[in-house]
Amino acid sequence: MLNLTKYDSVFVLTDEQVARCCLPVAFDALGLQSSAISSQLVLPAGEEHKNLQNVQRIWDFLFVHNATRGSLLINVGGGVICDMGGFAAATYKRGIDYVNIPTTLLAMVDAACGGKTGIDYTPTYNTANGLTGEAGLPPLKNAVGVFAEPADTIIEPKLLRTLSPEQLLSGYAEMLKHALLQTPQAFAELIEFDMRDAASEVFGKYIRQSIAFKQSVVAQDPHDNGLRQQLNFGHTIGHAIEALLLDNNQKSSTLQIFKSQKPHGFCVMYGLVAEAYLSHALCGLPAEVVSTLSRFMLENYGAAPITCKDYDQLLQLMQHDKKNHEKGTITCTLLSTIGQPTIGQTITPEQIREAIEYLCSL
Ligand code: NAD
Repeated sequence: MLNLTKYDSVFVLTDEQVARCCLPVAFDALGLQSSAISSQLVLPAGEEHKNLQNVQRIWDFLFVHNATRGSLLINVGGGVICDMGGFAAATYKRGIDYVNIPTTLLAMVDAACGGKTGIDYTPTYNTANGLTGEAGLPPLKNAVGVFAEPADTIIEPKLLRTLSPEQLLSGYAEMLKHALLQTPQAFAELIEFDMRDAASEVFGKYIRQSIAFKQSVVAQDPHDNGLRQQLNFGHTIGHAIEALLLDNNQKSSTLQIFKSQKPHGFCVMYGLVAEAYLSHALCGLPAEVVSTLSRFMLENYGAAPITCKDYDQLLQLMQHDKKNHEKGTITCTLLSTIGQPTIGQTITPEQIREAIEYLCSL
């Protein structure tokens, strides 16, 4: 159990939905009395709020409540709250301790462990006369952030009880990615598992296995210099799709048009299928893995909400991906077979086009 007595004050960061659904369950998991909390900040929920304005709100909240280097920030929420709260804590007065209590499946198996913190960012530029303008770029995923390990991460599966089936599926995509990086058996088990049994003991076992896998990879390469890059499988194309939808969503919300944002894990699922296709074409991943994954995507996540017309913008987004090592090139992690990732593969724009065309054809 985390020792809270060593902190001079304890602050809580959460979002509106988590505050409504399950904050007391999270406090119970930590053995935390609400009287032990100095103050709590509740932000709006959703990826579109993972931005600099909200980091500033967290810093301001901490300053206004006189948080010191001896204070603690507890992030109670999904990946958005864990990423953004971790970044705000790591940069406030050059860094205070933070703890994650992940409340989504995705945050439990992925976002809350490993020490990657950050926000999405839309670049702007300053002209000579001091005016600020759009740099012509859409929001870039996790483009600003730091590595900062949480002091602790507390997993409480009871928190999943209020999670929607859609959000469960979102986390499941990251579990599938971990399985694809491990063994054919791990992949087969998850493909065959019936998600209606998400409250079962066996699902708890799969969650623990997924977390243990991520932790073992991170422990060997905490700062993402090599081995950890295997965890990017599916994310070069997946992040570009997520940023494209975020951009469309931000533009359409001002015009009051239909909102089309998908949960992070859905975009990862589309990215996994597209990058499995590239893995088959370039590294020899067996075709049946691509077809099994494609079928699973269609049955559970539906077709990717993009068309071939989005190709140019997706390519532009991929060229700004922070995982690229050389200007203008696109780097992916691919698989030669299940459990055999090949990191740092350079992909040409034509190959990306082919993978997007495959995804759009499904
Ligand atoms: P999220 O944080 O937006 O949560 C999804 C939705 O579920 C939100 O509306 C939230 O309010 C709601 N919610 C959370 N817990 C709930 C509960 N128990 N009951 C009911 N509703 C609940 O999204 P997410 O999918 O958890 O995380 C996605 C983010 O994580 C992305 O920004 C992604 O980039 C990031 N991520 C980071 C890492 C990392 O290593 N740092 C890894 C993977 C993903």
